[in-house]
Amino acid sequence: MLFDHPDFDDHEQVIFCSDPSVGLKAIIAVHSTALGPAAGGCRMHPYASDAEALTDVLRLSRGMTYKSAVAGLPLGGGKCVIIADPTNPQKPEILRAFAAHVQSLAGRYWTAIDIGVGPEDADIMAERCDYIFCRASQYKPGFNPSNFTALGGFVGIKAVAEASLGRADLQGLRVAVQGLGATGFALSRHLHEAGAKLVVADVRSDVVDRAVAEFGATAMAPDRIHSADVDVFAPCALGAGMNDQTIPEIKAKAICGLANNQLAENRHGEMLRQAGIAYVPDYVVNAGGIIGAATVIFSEPSRAASVKQIEGLKETIKDILNRAAFEQKPSSEIADAMALERVTS
Ligand code: NAD
Repeated sequence: MLFDHPDFDDHEQVIFCSDPSVGLKAIIAVHSTALGPAAGGCRMHPYASDAEALTDVLRLSRGMTYKSAVAGLPLGGGKCVIIADPTNPQKPEILRAFAAHVQSLAGRYWTAIDIGVGPEDADIMAERCDYIFCRASQYKPGFNPSNFTALGGFVGIKAVAEASLGRADLQGLRVAVQGLGATGFALSRHLHEAGAKLVVADVRSDVVDRAVAEFGATAMAPDRIHSADVDVFAPCALGAGMNDQTIPEIKAKAICGLANNQLAENRHGEMLRQAGIAYVPDYVVNAGGIIGAATVIFSEPSRAASVKQIEGLKETIKDILNRAAFEQKPSSEIADAMALERVTS
């Protein structure tokens, strides 16, 4: 079931964690520690099946290895998923019980926030574990470390606008943002301030109303936003949004968003290339979060240093897009090769 799983990629360790006394069911995947301790967030989601959770954690942990490698961080890749509804009133107990499992790995794996687990939850895990980053208590009140990720998204859109759309600035650029959560909303603010015209969608009407009011955005149905008549599509919700059904409907000439695992399958990278759509690989553009937040693992955190490093993603992204165009290969393949070269050298 595990070793022949299609998403098993010689992960170093996959750990199944259980504590029936609080209803904990979780999986930790340590994909690689070749470049440093594995790092990656903790997702809490009511998966429909254990198999779905396993697929998610295997794919996400591999993505973390590649993300940190391309970003030049001294970190490996790991991730964990807790199979639970984040609105469960037992959430703090589940998080504490889970944190004890992370502690048992003695620093081979550091965890943090992801969907369903926020900076305050990271503080709860830190009660039982020394290997937690992205804690609310590490930041000034009100600062959300997802802002680092959003800044990376903004930098990425500037990169693809220059490299693939021939635009020197974002004035009047039409961008469709799918998902207005911690990353998508902050990205929308950056884009609005830079003069972009926004089309937005979310399953929550309150955040859509806010984006319409604050940014003059146009609202669109969540299941149609990928087909918006825009220059750039920015997926910032769940993964697998690029698939056989959606790709033929995409009108944007570029895709640059912050969601993880945007391609339903690797072959969709080639499908995007053939459709003439410049795709900024998800794990490259959404590295801002790990760049900004994970510095506590290996050095003193400095906001200014993190912002500078996140702004450096622009050259990396332009390099990937230019190489993809020159070699007539999918940008996802170019990024994977770059990551593997760093992990194995
Ligand atoms: P979030 O939970 O704060 O926001 C996600 C938003 O998407 C929510 O507002 C939700 O209502 C909306 N949504 C859900 N389903 C939707 C649909 N079908 N159509 C439109 N909107 C929908 O999450 P986030 O922290 O903004 O993360 C978004 C994505 O970015 C995730 O894939 C996450 O793994 C990835 N990511 C986040 C970070 C970070 O720093 N937060 C870092 C790297 C990657």
